[in-house]
Amino acid sequence: MTMEMDQLYSDIILEHNQTQENKHELADATLSEHGHNPSCGDDLTLLIKQKDGIVEDASFLGTGCAVSTASTNMLIDLIKGKTVKEAQHCLEVFFNMMAGKPQSEEELESLGDAQILSYFAEMPARIKCATLSWHSAQVLLK
Ligand code: ZN
Repeated sequence: MTMEMDQLYSDIILEHNQTQENKHELADATLSEHGHNPSCGDDLTLLIKQKDGIVEDASFLGTGCAVSTASTNMLIDLIKGKTVKEAQHCLEVFFNMMAGKPQSEEELESLGDAQILSYFAEMPARIKCATLSWHSAQVLLK
């Protein structure tokens, strides 16, 4: 990993942390799942409004480190407005990527900013932060 790549990754993480545009209450949420990562202290709740097989809206609440918060913000950007089936596919591509399984360029690109989370796939102390809310989404959208 070059220095420039490191910088790019941290810039994207920082950007998602600064905006945190998906962190808010969701009064008409139909689903919620609490994710807790004791090794870091991340404590994030994922809220989803699911209607007619579509993820109409989603948000999160709670506190977490930069990586878990940014990854949750990215997750919500990705699944909001998608059908449950499409969102499930995104989760599958994401978990395959984190497991180091080969993915097509097209599939990786379909993850948007979340592609960069593969950077944390081989960091035992960080991978739980990067995947916390994605596990919550998996529980809610199964
Ligand atoms: Zn964390």
